[in-house]
Amino acid sequence: MLGLMQDQPLLISSLLEFAESHHGDAEIVSRRVEGDIHRYTWADVASRARQVANALDGEDLLFSDRVATLAWNGYRHLELYYGVSGSGRVLHTINPRLHPDQIAWIANHAEDQILCFDLSFLPLVQAVHARCPTIRKWVALCDADRLPLDSGVPHLVSYEAWMGTQPTDYAWPGFDENSASSMCYTSGTTGNPKAALYSHRSTLLHAYAACLPDVMCLSARDAVLPVVPMFHVNAWGLPYSAALVGAKIVFPGPALDGKSVFELIESEKVTFAAGVPTVWQMLLGHAQANDLKFSTLTRTVIGGSACPPAMIHAFQEKYGVEVLHAWGMTEMSPLGTLCTLKNKHLDLPLEAQTAIRMKQGRAIFGVDMKIVDGNGNALPWDGKAYGDLLVKGPWVVKEYFKGEGGDPLILDAQQRGWFPTGDVATIDADGYLQITDRSKDVIKSGGEWISSIDIENIAVAHPAVAMAACVGVFHPKWDERPIVVIVKKPNAEVTRDELLQFYEGKTAKWQIPDDVVFMDAIPIGATGKILKTKLREQLKDYRLPGA
Ligand code: ADP
Repeated sequence: MLGLMQDQPLLISSLLEFAESHHGDAEIVSRRVEGDIHRYTWADVASRARQVANALDGEDLLFSDRVATLAWNGYRHLELYYGVSGSGRVLHTINPRLHPDQIAWIANHAEDQILCFDLSFLPLVQAVHARCPTIRKWVALCDADRLPLDSGVPHLVSYEAWMGTQPTDYAWPGFDENSASSMCYTSGTTGNPKAALYSHRSTLLHAYAACLPDVMCLSARDAVLPVVPMFHVNAWGLPYSAALVGAKIVFPGPALDGKSVFELIESEKVTFAAGVPTVWQMLLGHAQANDLKFSTLTRTVIGGSACPPAMIHAFQEKYGVEVLHAWGMTEMSPLGTLCTLKNKHLDLPLEAQTAIRMKQGRAIFGVDMKIVDGNGNALPWDGKAYGDLLVKGPWVVKEYFKGEGGDPLILDAQQRGWFPTGDVATIDADGYLQITDRSKDVIKSGGEWISSIDIENIAVAHPAVAMAACVGVFHPKWDERPIVVIVKKPNAEVTRDELLQFYEGKTAKWQIPDDVVFMDAIPIGATGKILKTKLREQLKDYRLPGA
């Protein structure tokens, strides 16, 4: 017997309709590429997203055709999020930090039809347009009078001229909630990039989950600052979750330095911010150097790579900002776990609470997870046993776009498919996940594993260290030994021996790195994470002392 409830598909357009009807005057504030501040409301987003949908219909785009963006976090990008997906097309957000060859490759692979770009990416468009035969229109996200005339890019129009004259009424179509809504390519450290293809259903379920109190706890009282880019995993779903609760959104545009982000937080009374550790490093650096305090910011979600304990401390103890350590990945839309305490933890001493907060957190309802050994056997949740982390759930990929890379899932005894995350982790008795490492970054020393994350976390707690990266290097006896690459803070000093001494008592003796290499900079990838592959390449002539 079927239930007798209404069969209404979960569609992205419904989020916008809700935000318009119930929170129409909540603000969307954007720092524009031009540097000025633009402000309008959810009602304006809805009206202009309908104009975008009309403009797309005028292009004779088919259902599920791809419309790409190369854009910062801003209001026009938000209109495309809703106009493209809402009208049944697929929004393909491209990471502008990728190499032009990669951008051309993924635009071709996705068969993008239209590409919308911020003017800061015009040189990139000029470099790739001739190699993107499927793209029939290039839309510069600017006013008509700012459209560059001699760009050499054919079929180029300004966004405002393209959509601005369209009618503001449009009936959002109804369709199967499993239809594709947006796509995001993973950085592809090995092989070709692969795309996660999100659906309306997966996006809405993820948006609901993100708002839960033990996840991001979003509400109509929040002013949300997504520093995490809209070109990477839909800014962790915040453009959707903010609509679902009617929150104000504050978009930082291209200005991601500590000073600009701090000023925006203060002037727009931001309560909630989300980003990767490298961005928060800049923000904290600015706040510390200028002796500033946050007056409205209460929570920050930090994820994408391990959040150093020193950063959690600084936010919580010095600034009174709650850190929500999060773990996820492109293939998971991206949220998997978030770290909040349970009722039984509330009476624990601060230090014990902080120890919990340093883990990546508990699974969100909708995400199943387990850790397995090399033979696929489930390992105990004791906080000690570590193994390969597998996940499944309605917002986890089952395969990549166009079947790239084959079937990624691993079947269990019940023939249920689990997605292998490529992470190595422990899970404790309370269900808190702790990422030990990426499986390819873990250092295998004499049959024992050393977590590069642990080694890095200790180093960045040293006052002279701005950034640290731990990699394994060949050792004739132990196979691999850890070394730590350090970037010093400006005008700070620390020697090799002082730093190695700093490790004493903080980790097992055999896990202490064998050497310290000082560098001016550590290579950072397109999503703000340390590029270990590139770093290893830079260190290829390095030999351990005495090895
Ligand atoms: P995203 O950049 O959104 O996190 P990616 O797919 O680029 O998504 O990267 C996912 C990987 O990033 C994870 O598999 C994991 O290795 C790493 N990662 C994400 N969050 C954390 C975290 N809080 N701690 C440690 N590693 C993390």
